[in-house]
Amino acid sequence: MSKRSLVAGGAGFLGSHLVERLLQEGHLVICVDNLISGSKSNIKSFMDNKNFSFLEHNVTETLLIDEPVDQVWNLASPASPVDYGQYPIQTLKVGALGTHNLLGLALKHNARFLLASTSEVYGDPLESPQRESYWGNVNPIGPRGVYDEAKRFAEALTMAYGRVHGVKIHIARIFNTYGPRMRLKDGRAIPAFIGQALKAEPLTVFGDGRQTRSFCYVSDLIEGLYRLMQSDLHEPVNLGNPDEMTILQMAEQILQLQGVKDSRGKISYQSLPEDDPKVRCPDIQLAKSKLKWEPKVQLEDGLRETLQWFKEFSP
Ligand code: NAD
Ligand code: UDP
Repeated sequence: MSKRSLVAGGAGFLGSHLVERLLQEGHLVICVDNLISGSKSNIKSFMDNKNFSFLEHNVTETLLIDEPVDQVWNLASPASPVDYGQYPIQTLKVGALGTHNLLGLALKHNARFLLASTSEVYGDPLESPQRESYWGNVNPIGPRGVYDEAKRFAEALTMAYGRVHGVKIHIARIFNTYGPRMRLKDGRAIPAFIGQALKAEPLTVFGDGRQTRSFCYVSDLIEGLYRLMQSDLHEPVNLGNPDEMTILQMAEQILQLQGVKDSRGKISYQSLPEDDPKVRCPDIQLAKSKLKWEPKVQLEDGLRETLQWFKEFSP
């Protein structure tokens, strides 16, 4: 019997890669998405697959599924600072009400449940690298609070459904992930820099560019999510690439990939957004030991693939 997976947010960047993986694994996949930050073009290639179905639906509203469901993957949420800045209330609602509905669905169907949480639960961290045991440093009322607190609430609710109802829950704290199917204009650093480099415009580095991030290629991340859902790990786990770098280094690397040898004059420094975390780097010991998982794709290879995809497919 094939497993049936419901992927909320399946028309987004990560969701569509997850759908692809699940179809390859022989799952029947129901993709539920209201397309607020996703796109039908991300799932176009699955539309003719008899094992795939798409339901345009806002998961903050009740969701009833008649068929049996084995796995519920909750990836539904605006995810880039620009997106959740534009949709603050929708972001809070999907983290809270959407997660509640999807947990209810998992309970009813006796399905496993996975929450796509985020490194943003650590806020502007005072510890680095961040271990799962760190409680974070979040400004609840700043511009990022709508996303950070929604995800923190979603984690608390997910843990409660595990403890109270015995739902088999999994929580992935995902660190910055990149790859094909990101939106050029979603405001995140890599698509922004690639879009600018392709148009030979200056790359917009915020602040002095010394803030750090650790970037994971999408195929590595999807492998981590897949292993987590099949595992018996029911506490939050960091999934990300521990190779930390400054944002300025990232801008320079993308310029180099585009054949620009000297970055002088090619970078436009802009003001740093409020509460922008100064450092971010995952400690992935837990994922290594419990999931036998660690990222494999080198940054240069991942960036090359991504750049090529944007050249070929992005509008
Ligand atoms: P994305 O914006 O491409 O995908 C999110 C998808 O969720 C979109 O298709 C959107 O339309 C859908 N969605 C949003 N609200 C919805 C609602 N109310 N009902 C139904 N669908 C809804 O973003 P992404 O980068 O693919 O992120 C996917 C998930 O992973 C998000 O939950 C995000 O918080 C989490 N995450 C991503 C990253 C990353 O680096 N990409 C890092 C940490 C966490
Ligand atoms: N950033 C930047 N220029 C851009 C977009 C982002 O310098 O055009 C910076 C941003 O301020 C942050 C980092 O790049 O320090 C990563 O931003 P992103 O939006 O990709 O993800 P975040 O980790 O902030 O959620």
